[in-house]
Amino acid sequence: MSPEPVIIGGGGLSGLAAALTLAHAGREVVVYERGVACGSQRHGDAEGLETWIFAQRPMAYLQAHNLPTSFDSRPVATFQYIDEVGQVHSTTAQQPFFHLVRRGAESGCIDREFQVAAEAVGVTFRFQTVRRPHQVHIFAGGPRRACAYVQGMTFRTSAPDGVTLLLGRSYAPQGYAYCITWNGRGTVAAAYTKQPSGTDRVFLRAVDHFRDVLGFHMEDTVSFGFFGAYAPVPTLTDSGALLVGEAAGFQDALFGFGMNFALRSGVLAARAIIDGKDYRRLCRAQLMGPLASCWVNRRLFENLREPVRSRLAARIVGQGRAWEVLHRVSQPTVSKRLMAWWSGRRRTK
Ligand SMILES: Cc1cc2nc3c(=O)[nH]c(=O)nc-3n(C[C@H](O)[C@H](O)[C@H](O)COP(=O)(O)OP(=O)(O)OC[C@H]3O[C@@H](n4cnc5c(N)ncnc54)[C@H](O)[C@@H]3O)c2cc1C
Repeated sequence: MSPEPVIIGGGGLSGLAAALTLAHAGREVVVYERGVACGSQRHGDAEGLETWIFAQRPMAYLQAHNLPTSFDSRPVATFQYIDEVGQVHSTTAQQPFFHLVRRGAESGCIDREFQVAAEAVGVTFRFQTVRRPHQVHIFAGGPRRACAYVQGMTFRTSAPDGVTLLLGRSYAPQGYAYCITWNGRGTVAAAYTKQPSGTDRVFLRAVDHFRDVLGFHMEDTVSFGFFGAYAPVPTLTDSGALLVGEAAGFQDALFGFGMNFALRSGVLAARAIIDGKDYRRLCRAQLMGPLASCWVNRRLFENLREPVRSRLAARIVGQGRAWEVLHRVSQPTVSKRLMAWWSGRRRTK
């Protein structure tokens, strides 16, 4: 008798990576997704698959795990940093900092292309249907608590392609703002760890600062707002379901990079089911160290005062070693793991 179908709640990247891995192993899979399609809650905004946290680069990881690479993407090895007084610092690395992708249900977006690939290998989708952890084998429903807030807008523009970062109390208190222009479309967003009072005013100030310094126009703007979840130690199960992606708290706490964690945790949950392995042990070996590092880096970032934080960023960018610094500080160490474990214990008390 063939095993029962694997039920997944949530068709984001973590759920889709799990679904594809299970289907490739010959398992029957049903994905329940709250939206009308995978990625339907996103707006075609650009996000980056970072390259510095994990040893295996994202595109190589996707290929090695038989996951799609057919989505629109662009490697970015140069980015700019604007300090609070409007001075622009540029840096170029030997390898891409990230691969830009688009999030959404349109053709070419990563979510859409993953859905199409999953349908092609027989995954069944039930859209506009919600499932709770006790009803599924894998729960991939995204953030369950708000640790960070993102406010942004997408727009059309004739600006050249580029990625620009903005730090500073006036524009993104305890966070950062970014502007990505790519193929005539743009995304400006700001991430905050606490929703500051007057968020709209702060965000619009960041948008104006980007426009003043970079000098671009915006048409057909669409606003969006989301929240994200990260944790020093992930919560890996709930009511018998394996939790993956942000539902488990898998996200880079420092800058909010969560796609690589989502893909990897989805694949590990699928492997745990296929091979009868312990999901916790797989996560401990591959994901918990980097997660702990990101958590400790966020604590350090928050404890740096402005303008020290901005000066430090300008110096690292100015010296042309931003990728190396990001890579080095993301590597797990025993002390970072212990600090994250301690924070996790305190949070659950
Ligand atoms: C504005 C913004 C910018 C970002 N930029 C970057 C970036 O540049 N790089 C990066 O790596 N990361 C970035 N992130 C984070 C990254 O997008 C997420 O970490 C990642 O997509 C999480 O994937 P997930 O599958 O865990 O959850 P999600 O992508 O949130 O997917 C969850 C899915 O489950 C569905 N769902 C929810 N509850 C249920 C339920 N009960 N039943 C059924 N379906 C349900 C939702 O509709 C959704 O489709 C960004 C996030 C935001 C919001």
